[in-house]
Amino acid sequence: MSAPRVDSTDVLVVGGGPAGAAAALHAARRGLSVLLVDAARFPRDKTCGDGLTPRAMHQLQLLGFGPEIAAGYRSRGLKLHGFGGDVTAPWPKSAFGSEGSAMRRTRLDALLFETARATDGVTVREGSPAVDVSLRHGRVESVTVSTPDGDRTVRCGTVIVADGVRSPFGKLLGRVWHRTEVYGIAARAYCATPFSGEEWIHSHLELRDREGRAQPGYGWIFPLGDGHVNIGCGALSTTARPAKVNTKKLLSHYAGLRRAEWSLGPETDVASALLPMGGAVSGVAGPNWMLIGDAAACVNPLNGEGIDYGLETARLAAELIDPRRDLTVVWPRVLRENYGEAFLLARTAARLLTHPRLLPAVGPFGFRGPQAAPLMRTTARLMGNLVTDGDRDVVARAWRTAAGGLYRLRGSGAVLWA
Ligand SMILES: Cc1cc2nc3c(=O)[nH]c(=O)nc-3n(C[C@H](O)[C@H](O)[C@H](O)COP(=O)(O)OP(=O)(O)OC[C@H]3O[C@@H](n4cnc5c(N)ncnc54)[C@H](O)[C@@H]3O)c2cc1C
Repeated sequence: MSAPRVDSTDVLVVGGGPAGAAAALHAARRGLSVLLVDAARFPRDKTCGDGLTPRAMHQLQLLGFGPEIAAGYRSRGLKLHGFGGDVTAPWPKSAFGSEGSAMRRTRLDALLFETARATDGVTVREGSPAVDVSLRHGRVESVTVSTPDGDRTVRCGTVIVADGVRSPFGKLLGRVWHRTEVYGIAARAYCATPFSGEEWIHSHLELRDREGRAQPGYGWIFPLGDGHVNIGCGALSTTARPAKVNTKKLLSHYAGLRRAEWSLGPETDVASALLPMGGAVSGVAGPNWMLIGDAAACVNPLNGEGIDYGLETARLAAELIDPRRDLTVVWPRVLRENYGEAFLLARTAARLLTHPRLLPAVGPFGFRGPQAAPLMRTTARLMGNLVTDGDRDVVARAWRTAAGGLYRLRGSGAVLWA
């Protein structure tokens, strides 16, 4: 049997979704040689709501993609429905801008991956999972990549692991996902509609199953501007209070309720998936490796968005690459500094929502009466984590105080990244 061939690169990126492709682009911009490998071939689908918040658009703009994506569809904000009321919440003016979008993941991910392929300094391999690793004192010495032409041994200075929710390669490095913390289960489908240019994305916070039982989650309709909407629903779960719900059945019921209003065609491409959330994983770094995106559970617990955090962590990780730097302590610290407080507070709030009686009790207050509009606008802003350090208004100050207080109370260990 012939010995595996050997490749050498400054940076190996495992996983070519938004996080991995963005990491490859950022690292190449720094003049580093990059090998980007993905188990799948592009274009490939990823079960997702396809929604791009202003936060995600900001990162895409930094990579040079903004206009291309916004030309297909622009969203002005969120329309929230439930408990007998409706509230419109425009994207707030923030450092991220106030424009959102949506794009099918088959298109978005292929756009990013193909851009990486065309970038000087980046080599890509598709259909090529990273399957094994050789470690010395926690440091990655080489990685085995199974390519269609046989196994290759990759020697690399730094490894960025962006292999998604189940993170099979991350597990080889010791990544542990803590499902005692809140996580999401969700399903999505596509439906044809004459209203795919609707400028607002819609969320139904009162989500009931066929028997009328309130579910700890929400339904969404995200117009795509291409004659279709992405329709889906998600529920929050923990090992102590698992969401006892079949998300595909719930989605079919939800689509049925919305069908007449949106003139929806039949659901196609129905798929479900899990969402890690709020940094509930440990084992995110070693001397020369870092986990980013879903692999590091960088998903907002209050709305399930993770594309933005995938893109942001890609940039942060690429900036840290330096063969002299030990990342074991530095990378978890960077994650905690950027997201620790907000994720811990959001995860705590999401955990409260898994109590079956909470939402039906407080929901009507949020949607009816004179307080409904400002309250829901605030909720939408907090759900989107669109509060920045520069914001000085009352809501931003209250959010920062609550998040900082909880963080101090529970200690940085509660964030789990280590
Ligand atoms: C139903 C649902 C709805 C969602 N809706 C939204 C939304 O509307 N907006 C939003 O921002 N987020 C949403 N999210 C979250 C979002 O999908 C993720 O946060 C995002 O895909 C994370 O990107 P990533 O690059 O980290 O991982 P992924 O996009 O999952 O990419 C991981 C890549 O790694 C590859 N891979 C895996 N193992 C290996 C290996 N061993 N070797 C090489 N490659 C490997 C995979 O093939 C894949 O291409 C949703 C999630 C779900 C489940």
